[in-house]
Amino acid sequence: MQKRFLLEIYGGLLGIIILLGFGFANLPQENLRVSFLDVGQGDAILIQTPQQQRILVDAGPVGNILTPLGEELGFFEKKINLVIITHPDADHIAGFAEVLRRYEVENILLTGIVGESTWYQDLLQQIAQQKIHTIIADAKTDFDFGGGVIVDTLYPLENLAGKKVADTNATSITTRITFGKTSLLLTGDLDIAGEKDLLATGVNLSADVLKLGHHGSHTSNSEEWLAAVNPEIAVVSAGKDNQFGHPHADVIERLKGKKILSTMEIGNIDLVSDGNTWVNVN
Ligand SMILES: [Zn+2]
Repeated sequence: MQKRFLLEIYGGLLGIIILLGFGFANLPQENLRVSFLDVGQGDAILIQTPQQQRILVDAGPVGNILTPLGEELGFFEKKINLVIITHPDADHIAGFAEVLRRYEVENILLTGIVGESTWYQDLLQQIAQQKIHTIIADAKTDFDFGGGVIVDTLYPLENLAGKKVADTNATSITTRITFGKTSLLLTGDLDIAGEKDLLATGVNLSADVLKLGHHGSHTSNSEEWLAAVNPEIAVVSAGKDNQFGHPHADVIERLKGKKILSTMEIGNIDLVSDGNTWVNVN
């Protein structure tokens, strides 16, 4: 058996599909494992595919990522195939410096917006120094990880590289990940205006698992949005007793009847899909 695809880029009607998997469609499928890492007040989500590909979406604030990441990957695993930097706020990116020092990162997906924080400047410099392959996100950029795992970039709708923005949250890379009949939606800190933009496109937003936008803040997670996504499981990634009051009580009220899992109560949250259903294996 040989490795069939590595970063072949296809331009076509479906947009750009970047194949990071090995492409053995007929191999028996195993599980997709998603871990919402306990990084305190911030986001860091690790996805491990059936074909042993690893995706890290954000890396939390400084100093918190290596322990939970090591618990999930094991001591000897050093490769991460794709890093997604949803937006350049410290509670999502400050942990990347440690990740890039400890792990071999093959590809990075980012928006390329202009950001003046030292964390972001240093991170961009580190990426350039290590010559990591970078991909600018837009709604046409999708990844096929083989074994039936597709990472579909929904937002930003357009390439934002080089743009100065007033509110970085509003540029958050939003991805819908599907495996068999199961799906997962990750929105970074996308705000209600971004949710509206996405709703207006008519794109399929439904997902069994939703990481609540902006740590469960009421500046995200509008009623219309939650109705469109209609998750079975909502995940809050936030720190205990955080100063922002995340998650907001109104958002929790909107999710009545749904299963809500929170890193501040559980620590790392591990969800496993066999392609038909999700199981919380904590
Ligand atoms: Zn945040």
